[in-house]
Amino acid sequence: MTTTVAAYAAPSGGAPLEKTSIDRRDVGAHDVLIEIEYAGICHSDIHTVRDEWGKQTYPLTPGHEIIGHVKEVGSDVTRHQVGDAVGVGCMVNSCQECEACTEGLEQYCVKGNIGTYGVKDKDGTITQGGYSTHVVVDERFVVHVPDGIDHAAATPLLCAGITLYSPLRHWEVGPGSKVAIIGMGGLGHVGVKIAAAMGAEVTVLSHSLAKKDDGLRFGAKNYVATTDEDAMKALRGTFDLIINTVSVNLPMDDYLALLRFDGVLVELGAPSKPLSVQAFSLIGMRKSLAGSCIGGIAETQEMLDFCAEHGITAEIEQIGADAINEAYERVVDSDVRYRFVIDASTF
Ligand code: NAP
Ligand code: ZN
Repeated sequence: MTTTVAAYAAPSGGAPLEKTSIDRRDVGAHDVLIEIEYAGICHSDIHTVRDEWGKQTYPLTPGHEIIGHVKEVGSDVTRHQVGDAVGVGCMVNSCQECEACTEGLEQYCVKGNIGTYGVKDKDGTITQGGYSTHVVVDERFVVHVPDGIDHAAATPLLCAGITLYSPLRHWEVGPGSKVAIIGMGGLGHVGVKIAAAMGAEVTVLSHSLAKKDDGLRFGAKNYVATTDEDAMKALRGTFDLIINTVSVNLPMDDYLALLRFDGVLVELGAPSKPLSVQAFSLIGMRKSLAGSCIGGIAETQEMLDFCAEHGITAEIEQIGADAINEAYERVVDSDVRYRFVIDASTF
C-alpha cells in the first residue's frame, strides 16, 4: 500500500522539472511520516537530474535537504514523536551492520548507503527526494531540528552544513588552524561560517571578489580572487587544510601549492570529468589529496546542535516550486546568495 503525494520531478535526463505526484510507502514499524516544510536545492540535484553523474532512473524527484514536522510514527518508533520538527539529509538508510555503519559512518556503508533519491531502496523501489509534500523515512535517518533555529534557513544544513562540518571535524580544525575554502556557493558559505565558529583562520578562494563583503561578514579573515596571480603566489605553503567545493574542474596543482607540508586538500565538489594532479604536487611536502562524503547521522545531529549554539544558518532565497527550473540555471551561473530553499506548500 502507498499514499500518493504532490511532487516535482524530472521526467527524463536533462528535462525541466514538472509538477507530478509520487507514491510514498505506508508507515512501517520503524518509519516516520514527515510533512515537509522546506526543501533546499543542492548542486548535486542539478548534476543528477542533468545526467552528469551517469544513468538515472526517471521520473526522478530530487531533494536531500529537508525540514518538516512528524505527522505519524510507526509502532516501534522511539526517537521521534508526532509534531516534532525534524530533518532528513542525503541518506535514508544503510546496511546498519558493516564496520562503517557501526562506527556511525553510514555515508561510507560498505554495501552503499541508500541515498534520499535515485537509489534502489530495501523494498526494491527507487527512492524519491524532498521536492514533495511528504516523505516516509526510517527513524534512524531522521534528525531533530533544535528549538529556536529558523527552519527555512536551517534546511541547507542537512547537506551543505554536514558536508563541510564533517571534514572540518575529521581534520581537527580549531584555533590556530589555517583553512582555505575554494568556492563560496551553497556549501562554501556555510563552511566559512562553521570553520570560523570552530576558531580557524579562514581564507575564501573565489573566482572573483564579488562576494568579498559577504565572505568577511560570514567570518573569513581573507578573501582572495583566484585570478589574482600575485595574491595566489603570496599564499603558497600557508594552509593546513583546503576544502574544494567547486562544481567544475580546477587546476589542482595550483591549489595543492598553497598547502604547507603535511597539508590536506579535501575534494568535495564532484565534477563529471576526472581530476588531474601532478605526482610532485603531493610528493615534495608529503601533501594529501582526500575526498569526503556528507557525514554520519550522529554527526549530522551534532552539526545541527553546533549550528544552533553558534547562531549559524544558511543565507537563503526562498522560492515557490514553479521557480525551480529558473533557480537551477541561476545556481549553475553562480547567481544565488547562497542557497535556494523551496516552500513545500507550493508543490
Ligand atoms: P554551488 O552553490 O553551485 O557552489 C559552487 C561554487 O563553485 C560557486 O558558488 C562558485 O564559487 C564556484 N564555481 C562555480 N562555477 C565555477 C567556475 N566555472 N569556475 C570557478 N568556480 C566556479 O554548488 P554547491 O551546492 O555548493 O555544491 C558544490 C559541489 O559540491 C557540487 O559539485 C556538488 O555536487 C558537490 N557536493 C558534494 C558533496 C559531498 O558529500 N562531497 C555534498 C554536496 C554537494 P565562487 O563564485 O566563490 O568562485
Ligand atoms: Zn547536496
